Amino acid sequence: MSKIELNKRQETILQIVKENGPITGEHIAEKLSLTRATLRPDLAILTMSGYLEARPRVGYFYTGKTGSQVLSEQLKKLQVKDFQSIPIVVNENVSVYDAIVTMFLEDVGTLFVVDENAILAGVLSRKDLLRASIGKQELSSIPVNIIMTRMPNITVCRNDDLIVDVAGSLIEKQIDALPVIKDSEKGFEVTGRITKTNMAKILVRLAENDII
Ligand code: ADP
Repeated sequence: MSKIELNKRQETILQIVKENGPITGEHIAEKLSLTRATLRPDLAILTMSGYLEARPRVGYFYTGKTGSQVLSEQLKKLQVKDFQSIPIVVNENVSVYDAIVTMFLEDVGTLFVVDENAILAGVLSRKDLLRASIGKQELSSIPVNIIMTRMPNITVCRNDDLIVDVAGSLIEKQIDALPVIKDSEKGFEVTGRITKTNMAKILVRLAENDII
């Protein structure tokens, strides 16, 4: 994806199109005393980001979109596959004790529980494990499938889902993470993890102008 912050030449092109559009790439190049080929990447960026529109045989014209409109449009295109993390999974038969150890070792706040076919069976959050720990039970003898949130009550997402929709689910369901899944004959195969941390990272990268 292109960067939203425009360089000087792109700003100049935008100005030329604003004043003269519709105008062909050829004519823009002439006004700048540059070749059409030199301008091509800039025109591609301006078109992709939504500042300009290109009509065949007519030329470029200014869409009139503001920076924030362009940003919002691009933001709404971000997909799970480009921002997800590696999922940390445990088998449904492991003990609560082992799940706690895994959570510390892997440094994650949510574990996904899978069955013997590696199909999603449940979710374990920090509080699920804390809750199980304040009872008097022996943690190494309770399997996680007793305390996990189980299918079909798990909110999932897929590779091509939109980041804004996932963020909406995290807020609406008041949860920290969603498993990214792939549909298979046996159920949901866990392929990734998307969390509030991923959302915070997206925000930082947006501010650094690193995404759009
Ligand atoms: P914590 O409980 O540590 O604050 P969450 O807010 O993520 O963490 O989890 C709240 C509850 O929702 C937990 O019981 C957890 O099992 C459940 N949960 C977490 N993620 C999901 C999910 N993707 N789908 C359904 N339930 C979930």
